[in-house]
This record gives sequence, structure tokens and C-alpha cells, in this order.
Amino acid sequence: MRKYTIMTIKLYYEDSYTRNFVSRVTGSDGNKIFLEKTAFYPTGGGQPNDTGSLTVGGRTVNVIDVGKQGDDVYHIVDDPSIFASGIEARGEIDWNRRYSLMRYHTAVHIIDAVVNRMVRVEGSITGSQLYPDRARVDFRLENFNMDTAQKFVDESNAEIIRARTVSVRYMTRDEALQIPNLSRTAPGRELLKSLETVRIVDIEGLDFQADGGTHVSNTKEVGRIIINGIESKGKQNKRLSFHLEP
Ligand SMILES: [Zn+2]
Repeated sequence: MRKYTIMTIKLYYEDSYTRNFVSRVTGSDGNKIFLEKTAFYPTGGGQPNDTGSLTVGGRTVNVIDVGKQGDDVYHIVDDPSIFASGIEARGEIDWNRRYSLMRYHTAVHIIDAVVNRMVRVEGSITGSQLYPDRARVDFRLENFNMDTAQKFVDESNAEIIRARTVSVRYMTRDEALQIPNLSRTAPGRELLKSLETVRIVDIEGLDFQADGGTHVSNTKEVGRIIINGIESKGKQNKRLSFHLEP
């Protein structure tokens, strides 16, 4: 089956709360299915892919992985035989998984903002990874212990209950490059230079950064951050692991 579109329409960018949708099938490659539009988030930027199902006619198959191939999104399914180019499929994402990932993603941005405000050292956060039931943030900090971690988390929880609006906007690369610290990690800053349009996730009054992930629309949806533990990954490199309570 040949592909006939150039670029998948990304419904998860139009509205991150889209749980289901109908789209035309544009092609396939083995068990990779391509759609005209999709709400399935592909792995990227520290946020794991969505899972869920695709239904054609009365038959439903599982979406077990989602990734990006150029500007297209592909869906790995457990049975590709029901698909044909041009027919309509109904997608349903595993909302529990996705909503958790949105909460964790926003939580990481809140921690990032709070740490930058409290430490005032640019580049003190070096990376993060989200999971449906936990997340971790890596810091480059000389002095980091359980007390410091608890201070960061207490301050982050105080920000969460302020019920700040989280919104998305777009700007040109030139506009973006004039804002200091818009991308806090070195790979992120490099990526910024290669983009024509930059997507910004804005946590009202707290954080403003270039980001390609999905977020909740208000910080109060994040819940409460609970520390799972801290780890030393070298002299300066420290890791904070946490989970969220509703
Ligand atoms: Zn992010």
C-alpha cells in the first residue's frame, strides 16, 4: 500500500485532550499504519508514545507503538491486515496513560521553572524522562541532597495549587532565539536553531519554554509531587525521581 499524503495532521497539537478521532488511512509499511490525521502522540522530547486502538469496519486492532518518520506519524498495530488506503479508521487513545503523561510532563516543567528560579544557574536541568506512573529530572548541581530536593518539590507543589493556566503558542525561530533560556537543555537549544516555527508551552506567570509535548491545561490537574528518591550520577549530575498523587 503506497502512501499518498505528505504530512500527518497532528490532532494532539490542536487539542491535547482529543481522545478519539476518525481519519482516512493513507498507507502502510508492514505493520506501520499511516493516517491523514492522528491524536496518537509519537515518542519524542522525553514523552513516551500513546497506545490505544484503531477500528476499521467492525474490527479493532491494538496500537502498540507510535513514532515519527520525517513529518509523518506511524502507528504500529498488531494486525495490519484490516487496513487499506483511503478507508476510514477510528482511533481511540488509552486516555489514562496519556493523561498521566500530560500531568507528568507539566510537572517536569514546573520543577524546571522552580529550580531555575531558586538556583539561578542556567542549564542546571540537563534532562528528564516521563513514564505513565513516574518521572525523573536530571540536574547539574554541586550541592543537591534530600533537603534541596524537598525544597524544590515543596515550592513546585505550591505553584501547582496556584492553578496557573497552561497554554500553547507559536513563534518564529528569530523571535524565539531572542528569548533567553527558552530551551533549557543543550540539545534543545540546538534544535531551536533548526526550526522555522517554534512551539511554546506557557505556564502563566511561571514558565515559558520551547516544547513539543502534550500538557494539561491547568497546573491544578497535576496533583501533588511526591519524591521517590534522589540519586547521584556523578560529581555534579544528580537525579530526582517522583510520582504524582491525584
Ligand atoms: Zn517538555
